[in-house]
Amino acid sequence: MEEIVKALKEANKVLVVGHIMPDGDDISSVLSMYTALKRMGKEVMPAIDWNIPWIFEELEEVKDIVDYDGFIESGFKPDLMLIVDVSSPDRIGRFAELVEKVKTAVVDHHQTHQKFTDYSWVDSTFGACAQMVLRILEKLGAEYDEKLATLNLMGILTDTGFLRYPNADVRAFKDATKLVERGGKPYVISRMILENKRLEQFKLFSEVLDKMKMEADGLLVYSYITQEMYKKHNCTSDDSSGFVSELRSIRGVEVAVMFMEVEPKHVHVSMRSREWFDLAEFAKSIGGGGHKRAAGASIEGKSVQEVIDMVVPKLVEKLQQEVGVK
Ligand code: 5GP
Ligand code: MN
Repeated sequence: MEEIVKALKEANKVLVVGHIMPDGDDISSVLSMYTALKRMGKEVMPAIDWNIPWIFEELEEVKDIVDYDGFIESGFKPDLMLIVDVSSPDRIGRFAELVEKVKTAVVDHHQTHQKFTDYSWVDSTFGACAQMVLRILEKLGAEYDEKLATLNLMGILTDTGFLRYPNADVRAFKDATKLVERGGKPYVISRMILENKRLEQFKLFSEVLDKMKMEADGLLVYSYITQEMYKKHNCTSDDSSGFVSELRSIRGVEVAVMFMEVEPKHVHVSMRSREWFDLAEFAKSIGGGGHKRAAGASIEGKSVQEVIDMVVPKLVEKLQQEVGVK
């Protein structure tokens, strides 16, 4: 952490990069760094090589986020690329091309992190990357106001399921409290993320429930969305990111999986576990990564059914093995 703080102090032009398929913690981490570093007089560019899900558009800083094309067009020449909430270079899209060319630092909380930068601070005991961002910004002497506190708080709330998941430990509550004391507004975040649904999402979810299947004596639940289903309901993958945790909330379920054909023949596998199944390990075995209780993988060149046929029997076997051991 000290090295990253030093590198940030020395840098004048900072490119802050988040991951593809960005979530609340990632957008929070990118925008908190962006906002705070800019106020310190640095030139900062927030960058994510993916569309930002529409629910986040009410954050005014979101419009400043560039993708790789925007970065190239801007002519910005960073002296430091700070990467947040990212476990491996394939997760930053085309920004991976810069890794060998500029000084790089990463702040990450993934158990499956693979070192790929000059400096790295990786600690999977943090529920959210935003908590690590908070510590860096405090070291840099950032001044918090309502805006920065709310941006920073968003990551803690989203990655801990609004302080409900097992990663919502004392430290997460304390960090959240600190940010609320500094003006952070939890209700603004919960309204934006939890109570901001389109009717089309409910209709799509209804079809997802129709297609849902249980396996391994109810320990596993899964469903899927094809491109056709997204089109039929006028939805995109932005609209279905919350479905997997809804499935996990079914009584007795240990693992929930959503197979989502986010682009033609590009299936995103999104997985959540409740109490004991280690998804980080399992996700690695199918080419992805993540945390113990939330992990994923992106599989290209296969149909939804082909990916289901590849993943489900493997998961059932692993679940049954673990139950036998327990
Ligand atoms: P989600 O299911 O919300 O897409 O992702 C859950 C967690 O798994 C996130 O922490 C995310 O970083 C990780 N994850 C999702 N997809 C991938 C992937 O394709 N590769 C890796 N390495 N991690 C992923
Ligand atoms: Mn995260």
